[in-house]
Amino acid sequence: MKHLVTSPRRLLVLEDCLDDAELLRRSLSAEWPECEIVHVSTEAGFKTALEQGGCDLILSDYSLPCFAGLSALAVARERCPEVPFLFVSGAIGDGEAIESLKAGATDYVLKDRLARLIPAIRRALNEAQECVRRKQAEAQLRQSEEQYRDLFENATDLIQSVTPEGRFLYVNRAWRQTLDYTEAEVAQLSVFDVIHPEYHEICRDHFQSANSGEASAWEGIFLTKYGRQLYVEGNVSARFESGKLAATRWIFHDVTEAKLATVALKRSIRRYEALVNSVDGIVWQADLPSLRFSFVSQQAERLLGYPVSRWTGEPGFWQDHIHPEDREKAVTLCSSLTEQQKYQNFEYRMLAADGSVVWLRDIVSLRIENGGAPQIQGIMVNITPRKQAEAKVRRIQQELEATNKDLLRRNQEIQSFYHTLSHELKTPLTSAREFISILMDGLAGPLNETQVEYLGIAKESCNQLRVCINDLLDATRLETGKMALDLKPVSLANLVQRVVTTMGPRAAGKQIALRHEVQPGLPDAPIDEHRMTQVISNLLNNAIKYTPPGGEIIVTAREAPAHPELLHVSVRDTGCGIAKEHQEHIFDRLYQVKAGDATTEQGVGLGLYLCRELVQLHGGNIWVDSELDQGSTFCFVLPKSQQMLQSNLLVIDDDPDVLDMLRQLLAAEQYNVRTARDGQEGLQEMRRQAPDIVLLDLKMPNLSGPATLKEIRKDWGQIPVIVHTAFADGELMKQALAFSPFTLLAKPCPAEQVVETVRKIQRAGDTAIWKRNHYGLPRPSMK
Ligand code: ADP
Repeated sequence: MKHLVTSPRRLLVLEDCLDDAELLRRSLSAEWPECEIVHVSTEAGFKTALEQGGCDLILSDYSLPCFAGLSALAVARERCPEVPFLFVSGAIGDGEAIESLKAGATDYVLKDRLARLIPAIRRALNEAQECVRRKQAEAQLRQSEEQYRDLFENATDLIQSVTPEGRFLYVNRAWRQTLDYTEAEVAQLSVFDVIHPEYHEICRDHFQSANSGEASAWEGIFLTKYGRQLYVEGNVSARFESGKLAATRWIFHDVTEAKLATVALKRSIRRYEALVNSVDGIVWQADLPSLRFSFVSQQAERLLGYPVSRWTGEPGFWQDHIHPEDREKAVTLCSSLTEQQKYQNFEYRMLAADGSVVWLRDIVSLRIENGGAPQIQGIMVNITPRKQAEAKVRRIQQELEATNKDLLRRNQEIQSFYHTLSHELKTPLTSAREFISILMDGLAGPLNETQVEYLGIAKESCNQLRVCINDLLDATRLETGKMALDLKPVSLANLVQRVVTTMGPRAAGKQIALRHEVQPGLPDAPIDEHRMTQVISNLLNNAIKYTPPGGEIIVTAREAPAHPELLHVSVRDTGCGIAKEHQEHIFDRLYQVKAGDATTEQGVGLGLYLCRELVQLHGGNIWVDSELDQGSTFCFVLPKSQQMLQSNLLVIDDDPDVLDMLRQLLAAEQYNVRTARDGQEGLQEMRRQAPDIVLLDLKMPNLSGPATLKEIRKDWGQIPVIVHTAFADGELMKQALAFSPFTLLAKPCPAEQVVETVRKIQRAGDTAIWKRNHYGLPRPSMK
């Protein structure tokens, strides 16, 4: 850049007249003695001087003989346009003057007015200096503008300058790219086209409250050309001109991703909270060793009635609200968690806000995070209903036991009353019968016919009474377990023949045809002869009693069809038959079908009951097939061998100690005991030989109790099962109930109770009924 001067250092003078040139030099040197005056008079000299450069100003004659002043001006304008050019001429008309100024001359001075020369030079130099300064300033401005524009255009933030009316004065490239608008489109837009309607109000506030100098933070949602929402954050500042708001400047950046991540995080926290709060238990966390809660789920408030803030706010809240009897144990268990023993699981009571006691099962674990202080956490589950149910079951059990004892006592009283009564009746009855016999035999003197007839009736009544009393005595014996069989090998065929023979006259007296069919070669079987005679006599007696004259009774004895290990006896009559609804009851004690005629009044309803008990004591089973007005067939089966009399038990349990204990216990009671260690093994055993009773554990590996029971019910129907479990109220029990009925024994169970239960089931005849179904014995046809 040219160095500017206030005093010229070098002036170029183009003048062909030497005198004039000298005159000028003097004037100039007088004013600026330091200044170098370069004088040229030809075109070549002028051009050379210009080439050398360094002239602050050019003075030129207007009319030169060989080089016109205007040509010199043109050369100067071309080579150094910034250097002022003044014409100094003797004669210059107004037209020429104007033309010269138009052509770029700075000024002109007439030679006869040289006094103007110095001021004109000064002014020209000042103007030139001013012009250079202005150009420099303009260049600087242009440069800095370009720098700023470059800065804004390349900024990654979005920048916009907006008029108070909302028109865009400027938006940078990031803005256009992010919002998908071209520069031309931006020119047509209002800021309200790109800001989400929700933020228009806030935007207007910014325009109104804008004040210079202060940028205010701003966040909002922008909409791209295609409607995509853009979360932005940044600041807004204002620019004022002459005290009036000229524009607002916005610099912001896209935070959509961060915003969405925050929203997703919040949503996931809300989901997690909802999950924790929906757990049917109090989820908690506490510090160690203070045991102060750092977190509890809302269930805490629902369950115990204290606000969550109290749980976490009060230092000793947990300890203070544990039932005093459970406090020490619960606190010790929680405090004793270590790296080695990380989990605890215990039950205790807490006191609720309403004063009630809540039973909780707390599943606690120790949690040590990298470098952090150890914490414990857990879930408290409300087990109050279970505890209440358990207490109820215990109460009911106690009540039942008391009722049972009471019933047993009363039963014993009744039994002993029957027993005493029967004995007290039997002695005088025997004596009355004996005296009647003496009288009838004529040992006390002769009797007339009527007297003999009446005594006969009295004797028959005594006989009937004796049968009744004997039945009563037998029933009492059976009830009290005092009926013992005297089993010996006996020929059933002979026995049947004898009873038929004995009863023959009675049947004949009623015009009933009585016959028997016995399979030849039947083996002897373990039979109490006296009791079996009683059974067959009872059945025959009933057949005669309920069959009208002209009817027929057939007694058969043979091997049971398809079951050669059993003997089969049937008594078939053509009597009145038994209605279906009575058939399942006629073997009950004291049950009678009231027909309203004399025949039914002859008994007390103990006959069939005794038959069933005696047959079952022999290890057999009895049943009836009958049709009203057609007749009845009573059938029973007996085992051929002694061994079959023992019931087969199968014990399925995964605990070897339990298996061993039950085997010894039940074998000592004359049961055939087999064992299996799980459900699968149990089913295999059953397939080998079906037992009479199954004792089944519920919690077992391989095949659980309920699954085993399901299979048992599928393949062996209603075989009696005793469920023997320590989890009488658990989930397995619920599953097992789907395959009821079964008898329940809660572990641990006293030995006598196990034996008693097995006996009861056996005595209840369930085994026999099952056996009958299981053996699939054919029912005798009615013909
Ligand atoms: P009861 O002393 O009444 O004979 P049982 O126990 O021997 O008592 O018989 C019970 C009921 O069974 C009788 O009341 C009778 O109705 C019915 N019953 C028994 N045997 C027969 C039969 N052979 N035919 C028809 N009904 C019979």
